[in-house]
Amino acid sequence: MAILTILTYPDKFLSQSAKPVENIDGTIQDMIEDMSSTMYEAPGVGLAAIQVGFDQSIIVYDISPRDEKRSLHVLINPKIISSEGTTIYENEGCLSVPDFRADVKRSTSVLIEGFDRKEKPLRIETHGHLAVVLQHEIDHLNGILFIDRISSLKRGLYKRRIKKILRQK
Ligand code: ZN
Repeated sequence: MAILTILTYPDKFLSQSAKPVENIDGTIQDMIEDMSSTMYEAPGVGLAAIQVGFDQSIIVYDISPRDEKRSLHVLINPKIISSEGTTIYENEGCLSVPDFRADVKRSTSVLIEGFDRKEKPLRIETHGHLAVVLQHEIDHLNGILFIDRISSLKRGLYKRRIKKILRQK
């Protein structure tokens, strides 16, 4: 198991779309292991393959990563089948967008289909925090960051801050 480097904005790879996984083979299983270690090490509640430079449709998540008993979930080729309602999720953050949080408009509940790592079809109907985490991670697989979903005014603030930091390096 390896800890992978998490790409951060403005890395262009983050705006790539992931390709569907065709075979859940050894390479994919190794990637899942590495993604999980990287997520727990960060720590974060979710990680999409795109964030570690791998353009396959895979996400890992655990909405209570600090619990002693870990409950890792793997979702392959996830698709949002339907969504309902809107909610403003407060202080959303992202491992690829360091030191920035913002309120983001999300669907209240979602129905998601995909596969687990044993190729078993999954159907997840959820709301609240998990629904937001899954929408956030599926966005990554479509090349979308949460800062793409906030006002251009707020996004501009963050972009200017990042430019300044990059200039100082
Ligand atoms: Zn993220």
